[in-house]
Amino acid sequence: MLAALLAGLFGLLIGSFLNACVYRLPRDLSLWNPPRSFCPNCEKGIAWYDNLPAVSYLLLRGKCRQCAWPIPFRYFLLEILCGIMYFVIVWLFGVTWQSAKLLVFTAICLELIFSDFEERILPDEFTKGGTVLGILFAWLAPVPLGFSSLLVPTDWPAPARAMVESAMGAAFGYGALWAISWLYRKVRHREGMGMGDLKMAMMIGAFLGLMPMLLAMMAGSILGTVVGLIYIFAAKKDAGDYELPMGSFLGIAAIIVAILDIYRKVGSSVVH
Ligand SMILES: [Zn+2]
Repeated sequence: MLAALLAGLFGLLIGSFLNACVYRLPRDLSLWNPPRSFCPNCEKGIAWYDNLPAVSYLLLRGKCRQCAWPIPFRYFLLEILCGIMYFVIVWLFGVTWQSAKLLVFTAICLELIFSDFEERILPDEFTKGGTVLGILFAWLAPVPLGFSSLLVPTDWPAPARAMVESAMGAAFGYGALWAISWLYRKVRHREGMGMGDLKMAMMIGAFLGLMPMLLAMMAGSILGTVVGLIYIFAAKKDAGDYELPMGSFLGIAAIIVAILDIYRKVGSSVVH
């Protein structure tokens, strides 16, 4: 329980960092310069006591102290969500490499969910960088072995085989979406997906392995289509003009699939 609470607090801080990424990466601003948070409206630095994750948003009643600019609710939502997710993951699965991997994966997905929703951008730092992290993590917290047995001899050490499996999951994720978007272009004569979606599927394949990645893609597509249709219908938008944040739905599905996948395999460490 203590570990889960600490993880929750850590999640709030990570959420705060992800907020900076959502704002700065699409604008090509450096994450480290300035290192301190600033108000996007008046561009003044924010004092540490006004920069406490989630808490400061409530204390300031969602307004910048200097210029009273209404701080987007996203800042609060992302921090709270990340804190809750971190608490739940460590509470369910304890302090393990599997948990650590899931925490990193959740952070990456949360950033992509909010970035795609707000800016329709999936930053390379998280998609490509995430792919590398996913393959490295396969050494410590292996993905389920499958297709890699066709390529690598079974006398290879298990962690090495898991890394090959993870790399194959990444390649397959990219390839599957590439094929779908190629088909879509042929049929509809316009872009259905951006490069970001392809790279995001690659990242998910690296972290989850082949089968869970396919499951996440299916669930994400169904979720996106249903929500998108409801939105287009309710807001009376022209379906041809509306660009669906596919990455956001893919991210939501991927987090759920990842948690269920580990739960199915190792159960929960919570004593009932
Ligand atoms: Zn301000």
